Amino acid sequence: MMRFSDEFLKEIREKNDIVDVISPYVNLQIRGSTAKGLCPFHNEKTASFTVYLNTQSYYCFGCGSGGDAITFIKNAEGLHYSDAVAFLAQKSGIPLPQDGYDDTVAKMKRRMFDANRDAAKFFHATLMSPEGKTCLDYFLSRGLTMETIRHFGLGCAPDKWDALIRYMKKKGYSEQEILEADLARKTKNGHVVDTYRNRAMFPIIDVNGSVIAFGGRVLDDSKPKYVNTSDTLVYKKSQGVFALNFAKKGTGKTIILCEGYMDVIAYHQAGFENAVAGLGTAFTPEQAKLISKYAEEVILSYDSDEAGQKATRRTIGILSKTPVRIKVARLQGGKDPDEIIKKYGKDKMQQILSSAVGDVDFELTREKQGYNLSSADGKVAYLGRAVEILSMTNNPIHWDVYASRLSQELDVDKKAIVSQIERKAKQNHRRETKANFDKATTFDDEAMKKANPDRQKYLVAAKAEETLISLLLHNPDFYEKIKSRLSEDDFSTSLNCRIYRLLSQKLEQKRPVDVTYFAEDLNDEELGYLVRLECMRENLSNTVNECLDCIKRMKEEKIERNTKQASDMTDDEWASMFKKNQ
Ligand SMILES: [Zn+2]
Repeated sequence: MMRFSDEFLKEIREKNDIVDVISPYVNLQIRGSTAKGLCPFHNEKTASFTVYLNTQSYYCFGCGSGGDAITFIKNAEGLHYSDAVAFLAQKSGIPLPQDGYDDTVAKMKRRMFDANRDAAKFFHATLMSPEGKTCLDYFLSRGLTMETIRHFGLGCAPDKWDALIRYMKKKGYSEQEILEADLARKTKNGHVVDTYRNRAMFPIIDVNGSVIAFGGRVLDDSKPKYVNTSDTLVYKKSQGVFALNFAKKGTGKTIILCEGYMDVIAYHQAGFENAVAGLGTAFTPEQAKLISKYAEEVILSYDSDEAGQKATRRTIGILSKTPVRIKVARLQGGKDPDEIIKKYGKDKMQQILSSAVGDVDFELTREKQGYNLSSADGKVAYLGRAVEILSMTNNPIHWDVYASRLSQELDVDKKAIVSQIERKAKQNHRRETKANFDKATTFDDEAMKKANPDRQKYLVAAKAEETLISLLLHNPDFYEKIKSRLSEDDFSTSLNCRIYRLLSQKLEQKRPVDVTYFAEDLNDEELGYLVRLECMRENLSNTVNECLDCIKRMKEEKIERNTKQASDMTDDEWASMFKKNQ
C-alpha cells in the first residue's frame, strides 16, 4: 500500500478538527479541553467516549477504541484507511496526492456489489423460467403475489452444482471473485461448487440499494433449512437487516421487527412496508444500532411460542441500549404474523400492532405470572421486582403511570411505590457512575490487555514502558537526552517495544509523533492503546528524571526476570544461551 506523506496528513489533521468530524455522529458535551459523549462503537448509557481537543484524538474507556479524525471516519463509516483519508480530503478541499492513494479495496468492493447484483438477476430469471417452477409454486403456495415476488427480487437457485459459477464466468468474473463473494464455496475435495443449490432465494439489499448477500431456503424438509452468505468484504452477518432498504423509506418512524423473511414479506404484501427482520442468527447490537438510525419506535413481532417470547426478552435487552421506544405486539390467533395475516387479514394485524404494549408493560405482565398475588408474600415479592424493572427505565412518567396501576392492583399506597422506585433509581445511578469512574481510572482494563497481550504478565515493566512512551509523545525533546540509555532489549512487552521503535524512528528524523502518523503501522486496537498512553499526561510530572526512573525500572524488571529464568534452566539450555551470544 502506498503511504501518505507527513505533510499531507498534517494538512488533513489541521483542516478537519476532530470535534467537527465526530459531532455529526456523537452528541458531544465539551468541557475545557475534553469532550464526552456516548460511544458510537459500543452500546452504553453513560458517556465513556472521550475526545481530547489538544491532541486531536479520541479514546473510549468502555471499549478501548481510539485514534484521530481519520481513524474515527474509518470505523464509523466502515471504510478502508485510505478511503477515510480521501473522504476527509475531499470534505476539506485538499487535493489527493497523485501517487499516494490506493483504491484497491474500493475497487474490489464495487466489483463484489456488481457480482451480487448479477447473481440476483440470475436467480430471479431462473425463478421465472421453467427450471424455477417448483420454487415459484412454493412462493405462490405461501400466498405471495407475483408483484411481491418481483418487489423483493426473489429468486431460485437451480438444482445443479455449478449453474451460477458458469453464468458468472461468462459474465467475466474470475473464480477467485466468485469465491470471495461467497457465491461459490470449495468442498473438502477441492471442488468449487455453487453456494446455493435448489433453494428459494432472498436477496439482502443494503440501505443504499446494493445487493450485499443472500438467504437461501430449502424447498422441502431437508437440512439446513437456511444457507446464508458468510461475511464478505461488503457484508457482515451481524449487521444485516432484511428489507431495511424498503422500511427506511416509510413515512412513519416506526419499524416492525420480525423473526423471519416470510413474516416480513407477508407484512409488506399486506401494506405494512416498515417490517424488517434480523438475518441468520440471534439479534445483535449492531443490528439494533442500524435500525435505531431509521426508527424512533420498534414494535417487536416475534413468534408467539416459547422460543419467540424468549427471543423477545433478549431483543428488548439489546434494543434498550439504543434510544428507540420499544413495544411488543401480542400475537393472537396464529403462531406468527404470516399466519395471522393469512387467516384474519390485515385489519386484524393492524389492530394487534395498535395495541402493542410498551416493553415495561411486557416485562411486568411476564413477571406477574410468576407470583401468587393472593398472598401477602407474593404481593411484596412482585412489588419488589416491579420496582426494580421500573427503576431501570429512568422515566418519571412511566413511574407515575405504573405506580398508579400497581397501587390499584395490589392495594398499596401509590406514594410509597413511587418513592421506592426513586430510591432504587438513585442507587442504580450511583452504582453506574462508580463503575464508570472505576473503569476510567483503573489502568489494567480489558482493552489494554487485548492490544498488548504481554502486559498482564509483565505488569510492572509494562507500566514503566507506557509512562516512558507517554512522556516521549508529549516531550519529543527528551528523546535526545535519554536515547543512549535505552535499547529495544530493555522492553519486556513486544507491543511497547514496537511502538518505541516507530517512535524513535520518527524522532530521529524530527518527524511529528501524533497518533495520526502511527495509523498505518498499528492495527485498530493498538492505535486505541496508543491514544490511551497519550492521554495519561495529566498524571505525569513531565521531566527527564521521570523518563530515567522509567528506564531504571524497566531494566531492573528485565534483569530480575532473566536471573529467575536462568535458575530455571537446564544445563543444556544454559550452555546454549552462551553459544548464541558468542
Ligand atoms: Zn466504546
